[in-house]
Amino acid sequence: MVALPKPRPRPPWEDGHFVGGHVVLDLTNTVFDRAHPVADNELLKTPSAALAWCASVGLLEDGLPEVSGAAADALVSQLRAVREDAWAVFDAVARTAPIPEAPFGALLERGGAGLRDERLRGVDASRVPLDFDGEPDAIPAALSLSAVQALFTLPRGRIRACARCGWLFLDSSRGGRRRWCSMGTCGNREKASRHRRGKR
Ligand SMILES: [Zn+2]
Repeated sequence: MVALPKPRPRPPWEDGHFVGGHVVLDLTNTVFDRAHPVADNELLKTPSAALAWCASVGLLEDGLPEVSGAAADALVSQLRAVREDAWAVFDAVARTAPIPEAPFGALLERGGAGLRDERLRGVDASRVPLDFDGEPDAIPAALSLSAVQALFTLPRGRIRACARCGWLFLDSSRGGRRRWCSMGTCGNREKASRHRRGKR
């Protein structure tokens, strides 16, 4: 399997946002809770949050580029679109359900358009995320193609959804029994609520 660079979170992002074990799974986890959405569920809220996320996972160099106005709004909405398509695909993998055609097709189209436009380059299965021209507006295409690549290269039996919040992660534990996105948040919260239920 490909060795991935470890994310280096830039504010407002923290280590706890990058527990997916793969950049595409981390992208799918940029909502507060998949299983029980709250009113304020969106974490990719603003262009600056989106750019900071991209920098955190190594898609942008430090010293973030200026992206403003319509281009900034487009980046946020396209990242969210890629995120939802990737979530639909990998959540199906986690449930051992058939891959949903429409979101997978959208990932192929967006990634394919990036290749046709020569925004993505050096397609190489050993590079994650794929190389691109370094411009923020090429990132949604790069992530889409990375999602396609991940679908065919990650061990499917190790892609899981957190038993509590639904965040996706690659279980790289030796025994392959990881159930939680994070023991520190969901694992302990589940234990606490079970404990309360048991006492009632
Ligand atoms: Zn969780």
